[in-house]
Amino acid sequence: MSVRAQEFDQARDAPAWSVADSAEIYRTANWGAPFFFVNDAGHVAVNAMNEAATTMDVVAIVDELRRRGVQFPVLLRFQDVLRARVRRLNEAFRNAIGEAAYGNDYRAVYPIKVNQLHEVVDELLDAGKPYGMGLECGSKAELVAALPQLDDDSLLVCNGVKDESMLSLIMSGQRLGRNAIPVIENYSEFVELKRLAFNAGFVPRLGVRVRLATPGSGRWSASSGVNSKFGLGVAELLSMLRELEASGLADRLVLLHCHIGSQIADIRVLKQAAREVTRIYAELVSRGAGLRYLDLGGGLGVNYGRDHLEHDAGINYSLQEYANAVVFTVQEICAAHGVAEPILVTESGRALTAHHSVLIVPVLDTRSKDNPALEFTVADDAAEPVRALDRILCRLDAIDTAGELLEAFHDANERLGEVRSLFTHGLLDLEQRALAESLYWRSCSTLLAALRNETGTPPPEVAELERQLTDLYQCDFSIFQSMLDHWAIGQPFPIMPIDRLDERPTRRGVLVDLTCDSDGRVSHYVSANADNSFLPLHALNPGEPYYLAFFLMGAYEDIVGDAHNLFGRVSEAHIYADPDEPDNFWIEKIIPGTAIQDMLAQVQYFPNDLHRRMSELVRAKIHAGVVRPTQGIAMLDQYMACFPQNTYCDPRDMEREAPG
Ligand SMILES: *Cc1c(COP(=O)(O)O)cnc(C)c1O
Repeated sequence: MSVRAQEFDQARDAPAWSVADSAEIYRTANWGAPFFFVNDAGHVAVNAMNEAATTMDVVAIVDELRRRGVQFPVLLRFQDVLRARVRRLNEAFRNAIGEAAYGNDYRAVYPIKVNQLHEVVDELLDAGKPYGMGLECGSKAELVAALPQLDDDSLLVCNGVKDESMLSLIMSGQRLGRNAIPVIENYSEFVELKRLAFNAGFVPRLGVRVRLATPGSGRWSASSGVNSKFGLGVAELLSMLRELEASGLADRLVLLHCHIGSQIADIRVLKQAAREVTRIYAELVSRGAGLRYLDLGGGLGVNYGRDHLEHDAGINYSLQEYANAVVFTVQEICAAHGVAEPILVTESGRALTAHHSVLIVPVLDTRSKDNPALEFTVADDAAEPVRALDRILCRLDAIDTAGELLEAFHDANERLGEVRSLFTHGLLDLEQRALAESLYWRSCSTLLAALRNETGTPPPEVAELERQLTDLYQCDFSIFQSMLDHWAIGQPFPIMPIDRLDERPTRRGVLVDLTCDSDGRVSHYVSANADNSFLPLHALNPGEPYYLAFFLMGAYEDIVGDAHNLFGRVSEAHIYADPDEPDNFWIEKIIPGTAIQDMLAQVQYFPNDLHRRMSELVRAKIHAGVVRPTQGIAMLDQYMACFPQNTYCDPRDMEREAPG
């Protein structure tokens, strides 16, 4: 019997496929431009420096990492992309300020909770130096990390709930000359700060976070609105200002802060919040507050590749439009109130870091119903419905009209029903049923390919076939570890193969991870298809690796540590573009992923103890004659050799020839 299923693409003389078609189907330009694109070789490529001479081929990078024995999955950090994002944000505000003739500056502060990795923070600060970029911290640990990083002029905005030791550390920071501003999040923090200031005889400059009435938008809106757990209501705000005035300290209040949530989807929401907070700013200034900074928080969105109106993973504005909205709105309200324009601050995190990391995940295996590797022969004495299914499959090539194709499909369904019922009644053996199912699914995939080429409204059978023939792609990663927001709040991330993009993706794939959970799967995808419950992918070629790239992973996702199923952090490679290198890149640093022993230690299992228990087991079995001493010792060695290994699968182990 011919392996027809594999050939359906060619058999139906489908139109040729080009790299542009891949870019289209994975919507690469939509979420990736100008950094990620499909090159002429059909590979994912990176244009980090916005010049043709330094584009990097992701397949070349992956090959190099394989040569160096790096364990996959691996997170690629494109440091030049990170730097480019910093420049773009700051330049967008410079443009807006220039165009509006706005009377003050803009200062970006980077909220380190979005990606705390030291190398990321260092790179951001280095790229942000010409723009005076600062940091935002939201916890004591982040403050400890951030305090020595900046120079005296850069802002260090200290948000989050602060205890006495955090408040006094911020005060010490100011006395050391740092521009560290404690932002009062609730009234009791203000009371505590007053007490500390009185005892120390030093009154720090401070800021305050106000709770706006403007509700946030999108999936993260819980951190905003009048019921938010953060910030002071306007009544508390005025009472705080009166207390400061009473002590002659109103000039110490230098910063007004708000944050309406992450990934603001609609620019109107941003403008409304900016209008509200600037009104408050202007009134506080008129009452004598020494405010100089207006901090609009985070929320600058990233386009994850789906449309704003259809799905809430899209945003309806550009970086420049965001900057314009902030600058023009604040300017307009300040002018109306006759107050001086403040230094504008934003705490954009997602927009700075999301693009720079790409997670490379090997596909370990696929499961498809029409698996062409399963070979059966139809014997002459096979049951009639089995032979009928074979006849249907053989006939399909000769059929041309949609009507006939559907008729064949209905026949096949009927025959399969007969086979299943004969089997249940003990009239047909498992061998014949397996043969029948295999014939049926191959017919279905041939039918589907043919029906897809038909013009006009597809019959309902097509959707049914599409759903039935979706393959599971087993991927070497953990959703809980690397894509927590997908699991928790349904955030879609763009995913595409790094290679074979000059080839039509003929399979419908659903990605499943290594964890033992039924929700360890990617449930919706970014693609040009109306149905986003699957990703178009290629059939695996036996013995050839197939890697998927997960994009926009640099914000929030790539540092969330999670002990789920004891996978841990993935390996990382830090990559710089350089036109003088053979493939336009060099790898600055490789950080290995978490070893099994480190993950185990987090839950209190230690190699010594485990070794002792395992050797007791082996010794007892040697004594009992179950295994020979040399065998037993080899098993013990094999067990111990796992400790320093990486927690993920080794794809090189898996790249064996497929059977058949
Ligand atoms: C999380 C957070 C940010 C970062 O928001 P993005 O949407 O990533 O820009 C900024 N400020 C505060 C107070 C935050 O809690």
